[in-house]
Amino acid sequence: MYKNKLKPKLVMCHSVIIATGATAKRLHMPREDEFWSRGISACAICDGASPLFKGQVLAVVGGGDTATEEALYLTKYARHVHLLVRREQLRASKAMQDRHALFQTQQIALELLILATMVAVTLLEILMENILVPFLPIYSSVSNMVDSGECFRVINNPNVTVHFNTETVDVVSNSKGQMSGILLRRLDTREESVLEVKGLFYGIGHTPNSQLLEGQIELDTSGYVLVKEGTAKTSVQGVFAAGDVQDHEWRQAITAAGSGCVAALSVERYLTSNNLLAEFHQLAYIHLLIKLIFSLVQVIDEYDQNVHFVEIDIEEDPEVAEAAGIMGTPCVQFFKNKDMIRLVILY
Ligand SMILES: Cc1cc2nc3c(=O)[nH]c(=O)nc-3n(C[C@H](O)[C@H](O)[C@H](O)COP(=O)(O)OP(=O)(O)OC[C@H]3O[C@@H](n4cnc5c(N)ncnc54)[C@H](O)[C@@H]3O)c2cc1C
Repeated sequence: MYKNKLKPKLVMCHSVIIATGATAKRLHMPREDEFWSRGISACAICDGASPLFKGQVLAVVGGGDTATEEALYLTKYARHVHLLVRREQLRASKAMQDRHALFQTQQIALELLILATMVAVTLLEILMENILVPFLPIYSSVSNMVDSGECFRVINNPNVTVHFNTETVDVVSNSKGQMSGILLRRLDTREESVLEVKGLFYGIGHTPNSQLLEGQIELDTSGYVLVKEGTAKTSVQGVFAAGDVQDHEWRQAITAAGSGCVAALSVERYLTSNNLLAEFHQLAYIHLLIKLIFSLVQVIDEYDQNVHFVEIDIEEDPEVAEAAGIMGTPCVQFFKNKDMIRLVILY
């Protein structure tokens, strides 16, 4: 059962797919709208390689995982990347900084250990598939250690300059009206300066559009719809989720489309297994068909004996349909001197 608040109309259905997406968070700078998609982007993977940004000095705003990942990604294309962080450290870095000394002095040893553990776990996985479960925590902690390296890769990357305690105030343009830099403010000294960059990427997160589901369906702490891993199933039977509203990690058109396909097939499977599958014909096409038949009847009347009209129900006469090569209905065939001149299929 679904109720649209704007038009309070109740629509009954047996299953629903939630695909309301996620909205990139914004800074709401005075000139943000003016430069949105003209220098400002919320997706490094989508826009980083575009000619507008390639070979340029760019900036990423944010201090979490998304921002650090975006900054690292942009180093592939940009001349240099500035990471603008409001706080005095990267958000995920506290625990990592505690381990910084250990990481630097024992990095090679640790990497070898990780490699050896992974090889051992993989061998175990192959040899004893069912005995692997107790090793999963080891595997996961090893993976986390590898992930945490991202933070160090940003700080130690010569192509990335990290600006801590820095607020992004506004966009600065040149005489042609193009983005030429950004106005920054140090949070400790309140000192303002202009950083020359051709592009600014937001890595400050997304808000899943799941407000309408609050209290009705299980969401994670950030508001993303929780689905059973590898499926589109939500906590409510018959309700499925697809796309960015359930995906805080990949958020790409192709991954959203793929999960949409999984959700659609899941709905079909759910309806079939619960004996709820029903066929609906779109009214618009039926109207079109009636209009077409009405026009045909008029033409037939006009030409009297010179035009013949035969209506065949393929459910009743499947062999006639087969002989005429008709694969779908409704379908209209036009013949002249016994030869078919036109085939019209309405889906
Ligand atoms: C600036 C930008 C550039 C991007 N470029 C690329 C790219 O180059 N390549 C790529 O792969 N991906 C790109 N992406 C990501 C891609 O757009 C998304 O991953 C994809 O669109 C997600 O699809 P979706 O169907 O989950 O959500 P969306 O495409 O966001 O669709 C959600 C729909 O639900 C509607 N909706 C929201 N709330 C409600 C509600 N309460 N009731 C009814 N309807 C609602 C919305 O209006 C919208 O129509 C880009 C994203 C952004 C923001």
